[in-house]
Amino acid sequence: RLSRRKGGEEASEAPPESPGRDLATLPGLRDIEMVREAGEALGLESPYFRPHEGVAGARTVIGGREFLNFASYNYLGLNGDPRIAAAAKAAIDRHGVSASASRLASGERPVHGELEAALAEQYGTEACLCLVSGHATNVTVIGHLMGARDLVLHDQLIHNSAAEGARLSGARRIAFPHNDWRAAERELAAQRRRHGRALIVIEGHYSMDGDVPDLARFAEMARRHDALLMVDEAHALGVLGATGRGSFEHCGVAPGAVDIWMGTLSKTLSGCGGYIAGRRPLIDLLRHAAPGFVYSVGMAPPLAAASLESLRVMQAEPWRTARLQANAALFLRLAREAGFDTGASAGLGIVPVILGSSVAAARMAAALFEGGINVQPILFPVVPERSARLRFFLSAEHTEDEIARTAAALAAAREGLAGARVA
Ligand code: PMP
Repeated sequence: RLSRRKGGEEASEAPPESPGRDLATLPGLRDIEMVREAGEALGLESPYFRPHEGVAGARTVIGGREFLNFASYNYLGLNGDPRIAAAAKAAIDRHGVSASASRLASGERPVHGELEAALAEQYGTEACLCLVSGHATNVTVIGHLMGARDLVLHDQLIHNSAAEGARLSGARRIAFPHNDWRAAERELAAQRRRHGRALIVIEGHYSMDGDVPDLARFAEMARRHDALLMVDEAHALGVLGATGRGSFEHCGVAPGAVDIWMGTLSKTLSGCGGYIAGRRPLIDLLRHAAPGFVYSVGMAPPLAAASLESLRVMQAEPWRTARLQANAALFLRLAREAGFDTGASAGLGIVPVILGSSVAAARMAAALFEGGINVQPILFPVVPERSARLRFFLSAEHTEDEIARTAAALAAAREGLAGARVA
């Protein structure tokens, strides 16, 4: 800790118990070690940071071996598509790899505006802005738009990035029970008048559970209480709705009912970055003032080109979304028939298999991996211990046979582990 002494010179006045420069006592490190030790005690290899050697699609290669893959959000199989790779390569040939500056200050390239125009059109909004990271988009946008006099109401299962943005904003924060628009409305009724602006933040398709909010109710309620509604479409674009346009198409709601559409380019659109689509004053403010945009480099041109081409392919080939949804529905049905708890999944792209403990989830993931299936275990503290799970991301590229084999392997792994009393 530094404090100012007379004369302005800075000096350390660390209390005696201060860890000082000892990095081994950084908060959280011990927890990471404990998880590692627990894995070793159970004889489990870490499921984290495994390098994939090629394109991680419905199939992937890890350590020289091919796996069926349910751990990548390449929902429509567009990452690895030669058309998207060609668009990225052409952008490299024209602009090089980097934008080499903030867009405000010489980093602007035509492809940035083209991607934003295409996204604005997809949402029927006046404008759109792309930022270099989906996570940073939520942090900087919520953090910048809201302030100490304001109110942020968010679903209790909202992504970490939105929660971080709300924290950064200094606004009063209230988490409401998952998907409970009535509870959110009660909070608004009680709190709205004490605050300047109010913002409700929800997801169009929840990333851990694969369920969908009642968008019409949220939109109507937000309007009634003069609150802004922001919807994170990270896992909804390409996944929800008959043509993959997202939660508004799925729910039959006009996209104009939502004030702030947020999404990521890293999932269906096989790039990297985030976007905000909405009315012009919002986008104008963000492009001139949001710190995560203004003080950050412009999106790498090949990534912007890849996402633009992905969006075009998504729109031209709606059969991909239909196939993804059919695959997810099939997997959901088979997992349920085998007696697994799939929570509230709508069976559109994400299906959790809830196993009730982190040890059970880690063991099941290891058994499946051994059998050639890559699926990520989601353990405490990312989710509460009793809802530790395997999270299956389906892809348009999985075949029915692969899905049936996977459901059968899940049931067999449960039998195999039954003696160990973990599944
Ligand atoms: N929002 C949600 C709902 C997410 O699931 C994620 C990441 N998985 C993000 C935002 C952050 O996006 P990105 O990974 O593209 O930075």
